Amino acid sequence: MYEKNLAAPCGIYCGMCRQYLVLKKDLLEERGFKIGCKGCRIRHKNCAFIRRDCPKLRKKEIDFCYECEKFPCQNLKKIDKTYRERYFVNLIENLKRNKEIGVDRWLQEQKELYTCPECGGEICIHDEECYDCGNKINPNIK
Ligand SMILES: [Zn+2]
Repeated sequence: MYEKNLAAPCGIYCGMCRQYLVLKKDLLEERGFKIGCKGCRIRHKNCAFIRRDCPKLRKKEIDFCYECEKFPCQNLKKIDKTYRERYFVNLIENLKRNKEIGVDRWLQEQKELYTCPECGGEICIHDEECYDCGNKINPNIK
């Protein structure tokens, strides 16, 4: 079973996010965070980055940005650019892939991608690090 809640509207896989992982792995204090995040949707923020500027996401008229006729809009392009440049994560491609194979399979792919080859633990993309063994890795850099 894969949690749909980990598929953010903007194409981010929440399972690789620092805010999600520090909470899940009980590292809040150790890493200096206050609340962490259980995933965009559970937190009812419905996409932390785009929601404030997107009435469709706010009103839950769409689940994913690819459902929008403006896809990819300027807001999405902005965050996509940031993630491509900083972490080699392509959100627009993620969304297209999600649409193509369905959210369950997409989540499975993402989970596998962010699984540490050393220990089977979970990789945080923001720290480019496995939170289970400390392995420094960005799975998007081959
Ligand atoms: Zn590891």
